[in-house]
Amino acid sequence: MLANKKTKIVATLGPTTDTYKTKLKMVKNGVNVFRINFSHADFETAQRQVKEIREIGKELNIAIGILADLQGPKLRIGKVTDGTYLDGGDIFTFTTKDKITTNNENKTAYITYKELAGDVHPGEIILVDDGKIQLKVIKTNHIDTVTTKVIEGGALSSKKGVNLPNTKISLPALTKKDKKDLLYAIELEVDWVALSFVRSANDLHEIKSFIKQNSNYLIPVISKIEKPEAIEAIDEIILATDGIMVARGDLGIEIPLEKVPLIQKKLVYLAKTHQKPIIIATQMMESMISNAIPTRAEVNDVANSVMDGADAVMLSGETSVGKNPVKVIKQITKIIRQVENSKLIKIPKIPPIPEKRDERFISEVICYNAAEIAKDVSANVISTLTATGFSARKISARRPMSYVLVFTANKRILNKMALFWGVVPFYYSKMSSTDDTIKDIEKIACRNGFLNDNDMMVSVLSMPVDKKGKVNTLRITQV
Ligand code: PEP
Repeated sequence: MLANKKTKIVATLGPTTDTYKTKLKMVKNGVNVFRINFSHADFETAQRQVKEIREIGKELNIAIGILADLQGPKLRIGKVTDGTYLDGGDIFTFTTKDKITTNNENKTAYITYKELAGDVHPGEIILVDDGKIQLKVIKTNHIDTVTTKVIEGGALSSKKGVNLPNTKISLPALTKKDKKDLLYAIELEVDWVALSFVRSANDLHEIKSFIKQNSNYLIPVISKIEKPEAIEAIDEIILATDGIMVARGDLGIEIPLEKVPLIQKKLVYLAKTHQKPIIIATQMMESMISNAIPTRAEVNDVANSVMDGADAVMLSGETSVGKNPVKVIKQITKIIRQVENSKLIKIPKIPPIPEKRDERFISEVICYNAAEIAKDVSANVISTLTATGFSARKISARRPMSYVLVFTANKRILNKMALFWGVVPFYYSKMSSTDDTIKDIEKIACRNGFLNDNDMMVSVLSMPVDKKGKVNTLRITQV
């Protein structure tokens, strides 16, 4: 078994992960999911990367997830002449009319957001280049020109991102580019899609209906939480989404930085309560883009995410453009394992299941109790047989002491489950009696190093096995 750990690692693809060999080494050292960032990726490269990842999965006989991250309504300025500098107090203009190049004389930037002049109001803040440059709106002509005053100056360069923390943006959640990229992602049969700058549950309804119209398989959607509106609407978003990402890069620009840590804690708890996966993203090992070791603060940050019980930690520039992506994975895996193996660590408990008697009630109760019983009998493994991934998600959300080995004949969900905390997915298509199935599962678990003689296993399945119904059975066995 490769790099045993329960917290998963999402690694962003880029120029430094371009070869088969590098990705293979990354997986061998702990990567569970690769992220294609459609802000930068082109279809041909993405297609080759996906092909190679699927081959690595086959070579190592393990599930590897692929997450297609859509850019969303990201705002950017146009071209800027080298050496352009904004001084505090300068008057600076944004225009959507002409694609002019910014320089020290014209002090005007083209912006790729046609509705800017209609959406902003005097007094609102415009942030450029991850918030390094701050401007305040003085006036707008409501058509194509916004005049601002520079509050915090700095060097300006081409295509930098723009954030409007106080403004309600009227752009659609799914842009023309996102729709094109999403069609690529569907064609590439990715396992997850992430939507950037989610603002409401409606954004989720929109992307899900687009997927439904264009794909036989409903690719699950991760909402990237990076706007103040998303924090306000989080209770409706969590119901509509399949998972969330704490996208701390843009979130830390859109809201005061000091609020990010507590929002992260709140989101982890909320996601676990709703039994949906959560990824902590951005600047986890940032200094390793160029350094051989992380900073103490970065080690603490990763360790804290593990202690909180996040499903996954994500690497962006560290793996996509960093000096040594394999070294980063080795380091982050070491941190995760060190924390997970400590007896002192207790991941915060989530509330027991609500007493709603819907059609999944019995399955919910069994999954909940599987985690509890596994603790009582000190089981090394909880196994589950699933056709939809439902039981895997439910058991994983309880953050049990044991690994969750998930067996499925549904190839489409196999790699998706690589993202779930503590879950190890296996392809399994035999449909024999319950006794034989459990014996079989036990053998596979032993062969993969999860069980030894006398170890206990808690199994969750549906009887009769060949009917592939909802979970209705819980068995305890000893090897
Ligand atoms: C972020 O903003 O933290 C993030 C993950 O998004 P992106 O990498 O697309 O900017």
